[in-house]
Order: sequence, then structure tokens, then C-alpha cells
Amino acid sequence: MVSRGELYRACQAAMEQADIPDAAFDTMCIFQDCLGDRNPLFSPLEAVPEETEGLIRSMTERRISGEPLQYILGEWEFYGYPFRVGAGVLIPRPDTETLVDAVIRICRSNGITAPRIADLCSGSGCIAVTLKKELPLADVTAVELSEEALPYLRQNIALNGADVHLIEGDVLAEDTAEKLSGLDIVVSNPPYLTAEEMADLQTEVAREPAMALYGGEDGLGFYRELTPLWKRSLKAGGWLCYEFGMGQHEEVGKILAGNGFENISFTRDLGGVIRTVSAVRP
Ligand code: GLN
Repeated sequence: MVSRGELYRACQAAMEQADIPDAAFDTMCIFQDCLGDRNPLFSPLEAVPEETEGLIRSMTERRISGEPLQYILGEWEFYGYPFRVGAGVLIPRPDTETLVDAVIRICRSNGITAPRIADLCSGSGCIAVTLKKELPLADVTAVELSEEALPYLRQNIALNGADVHLIEGDVLAEDTAEKLSGLDIVVSNPPYLTAEEMADLQTEVAREPAMALYGGEDGLGFYRELTPLWKRSLKAGGWLCYEFGMGQHEEVGKILAGNGFENISFTRDLGGVIRTVSAVRP
């Protein structure tokens, strides 16, 4: 039987040979998951049961084939909460925590304790669920169209015990927007990659659903359509909050201003990239 230490070195080396960028980290995550041990290398001489070894080796192979680590593990953390993920749903990104922070800040600094919030293009539900956990009196509705994403969204609502309402529908359709009115906040991390970016995706991102990534030729299609449509669902004085891609802030700001939004303000993510905008419907 192989020891933990030997198997770890073998898996890490195999990943490194395949140019997986964070081989040590990814191997450690797989070991933690398969062995149910936060510190699997504290006992490097311990034998790995055969079945577990098989599982670890197959997860390592999947990683080497370009599958994202998060899909292999089946669960990923966002804002300290667990989210089930897999093929068919966008993996929650740390950048998006900036968007959640922006919404929480708006609520706290304006004394809105029980906001009515809609999260458009909800995907895994990481934004909607986190907002409900952080703002327990909020009334949060998640809107999602994808048949592949919806099962994850439902699971994540249940997993986190978050009482989030769900609308299965197209965020670009009038009849979806008409279902919600008098909202304090509309928040969205819509697809925003350009055609050019879609043609040159990182191996792992290419495994994520194009529907969650592609924002039309210039990446701005959703901002153009969502802004006038969902403006009507906001109450006067309500906020629209978006995440967008690097370098898109000026154009997204123009779209908001062109639709009569005011107090347009941007925030940077932890990497220093201007990543979110919030604006008020007068
Ligand atoms: N942040 C994602 C990426 O860069 C894109 C997510 C999106 O389009 N909303 O891959």
C-alpha cells in the first residue's frame, strides 16, 4: 500500500509535469477532500486505503485533463459559505465578493434593514444566498434561466438554509421583470466576456458554461438590455449594482447614465481592478 506522502508527491509531480499552475495546492485540496483530513500530511507515513488511492488518482487525472478543481471537488467556498458546483454552473469567483460587499455597504449606510433584492443571472446562487445570510431580514429573489444551473441553485439555497425565492426565467424578458416591482436593489454579475475573449479562454474557464460567460460581441449586451428593463422594477431611490470585466467600467457607467441613473460609483476588487458599479434610480 502507498503512503500519504508518497502518493502526494506522485500526484503533485504528475500535475507539475502537465503544467497545472497550482499543483501543490490542487493536490492538497484533493487529499483533504478524499481523506477527510484538514492536514493530511501531518501523518505522511500513514497508508492510504486502496479505494481512496483510486479516487485520488482519478481526481488527479481529471485535473490534468483540464477540468477545474472546483468541479472535481464538487463544492467551493464563497464569502465563507459552501456552494455546490459542477459542469453547467459558473464557479464563484473571489472578485464577486466585492459585489456582495457593495450591496451590503449600501444597505448598512442607508439604514435599509429589510431590503427587497433581486439577483439576476444567479447561477450557483452565490450572490443571492450570501446576501440573504448576511442580511437576514432581506427579501431576496434569484432569477435564473439555465436548466443546468437551476439544480445547483436550489441545492445551494437548501445547503445554506437561506430563504431565497426563485424565479426560473429569462432576465432579458419583459414578463420576468414584470414579476418584481418596488425593489430596493437589483444586483447582477451577468455574462460579460467579449467574442475575442471567448475565442481565447483559459482551459479551465472553457469548461464553464458559455451561457454564463458570453456577453455579446463587445461583452456589454446584458448591461444594455438589463438597465432599461429592470429600472422599472426598482423603486425611486433604488440601486442597480453590477459586476463587469476589466476595462468595462467606462462603458457600463455610460449605459447607466444614459438610462438616467445617478450617483454612479465604482469599487475595485482585491486585485485592484475596477470591478463593480452601483447607481441610483432617481
Ligand atoms: N469573471 C469571469 C471570468 O473572467 C466572467 C464571469 C462573467 O462573465 N460574469 O472568467
